[in-house]
Amino acid sequence: MNCPQARPLIEAYADGELDAAAILELEKHIHDCPACALAWRNAQNLKKSLKQDSLFFTAPTELRRRVEAELRSQVETKSWWDFRNWNWLTAATTSLATACLALLLTVTLTRPSAQQQLTREIVSSHIRSLMASHALDVVSTDQHTVKPWFNGKLDFSPPVKDLAAQEFPLVGGRLDYLGGRSVAALVFHRNKHVINLFIWPAKENNSKPAATASIQGYNVIHWSETEMTFWAVSDLNEKELMEFVQDYAAGETVNP
Ligand SMILES: [Zn+2]
Repeated sequence: MNCPQARPLIEAYADGELDAAAILELEKHIHDCPACALAWRNAQNLKKSLKQDSLFFTAPTELRRRVEAELRSQVETKSWWDFRNWNWLTAATTSLATACLALLLTVTLTRPSAQQQLTREIVSSHIRSLMASHALDVVSTDQHTVKPWFNGKLDFSPPVKDLAAQEFPLVGGRLDYLGGRSVAALVFHRNKHVINLFIWPAKENNSKPAATASIQGYNVIHWSETEMTFWAVSDLNEKELMEFVQDYAAGETVNP
């Protein structure tokens, strides 16, 4: 993919309208192209600022009452005999408003939720990490090496655990960028399978591990605890991935 091909896709990606294959291609390009990476960040920032509450307002009760009263009187007077009195402009405006509302509802309802969008980002980040040269920034099976490596690179300290005894050995970690923020990615193995565990500070309450999605053969499990949010993703089957999650949750955190 080159820049002219990437640019039109960036906005669609920000709106969650790309399929996984296109996301993969685009992310690969963004990763290597500073100009498109900047365009991508701008698209994300624009989207974020459009979501701010300050852009929405609730109609005052008085206005609402008047509109409702107006609509009621329209209905009452809308008879064949009052044909000449019928305010066509109001009729047209009302129909247009109804059409706009219907369109808005359709767009809102068919748009993926923030969670779906994040899940897709997580899967594509996992797939990208499987490509050569982006799997690990720090290669180590030693949790005492991996944990301090994150110091100063993130505004939080991810709980690093080794699950070699449970046959999920830690192989390293890297920085990643998900949902508009820098996150820690811990990489574990189970036989030939790779597990990415993404961690960042939680905004939500604690939640039990739950299988969130299965996208293109990749399973995703999400949970929150100790003020951190966790997303495990792998091509491992759901049962074994859940085993990993439970072993991880029960494991001891290192204190270097
Ligand atoms: Zn480019």
